[in-house]
Amino acid sequence: MSDTLEQLFAQSGHDAYFGEPVTQLEHALQCAHLAEQAGADTETVVAAFLHDIGHLLPPELSGDYMDGYGTVDHEKLGADFLREQGFSEKVAQLIEHHVNAKRYLVFKHPDYFARLSEASVKTLAFQGGPMKPGEALAFETNPYFRGILQLRAWDEQAKIPDLPTPNMAHYLKMAEGLV
Ligand code: FE
Repeated sequence: MSDTLEQLFAQSGHDAYFGEPVTQLEHALQCAHLAEQAGADTETVVAAFLHDIGHLLPPELSGDYMDGYGTVDHEKLGADFLREQGFSEKVAQLIEHHVNAKRYLVFKHPDYFARLSEASVKTLAFQGGPMKPGEALAFETNPYFRGILQLRAWDEQAKIPDLPTPNMAHYLKMAEGLV
């Protein structure tokens, strides 16, 4: 399992994280590190590490592209890929809904939109724009709602050039322990 994940990062981890000053691997490591520092449980730390794995899947497994900002539905592709690999529904859902978290926060907190990075604003339109009120209410009932919003916050912070973090082996080992 962790061989597959390691390969995906080896193949594409050094690509830029769309329009941000870090690579895909740096972004993943920083996101996981932030979760770990916050005292999150192992499933949440692993979800943070793997939340963008859908962007690293080979083209035959992925769908349409968003004008240079990655794959449409990368969150769903990534979650389904990890379900197939034997990860829990919690790990899968934290990943599957990290884009919905942005759509929810834009709906709920108008000032949140102003804090989004340029790349995040560009992808929002491809991702369905802000949630509608009914959609937001339903989203709040997701059993992992709080964790999903936490992951979103770490995701947005994990764009710091040259931030020291634990290495990939550390998080691959954690992932291995879950399947
Ligand atoms: Fe991300």
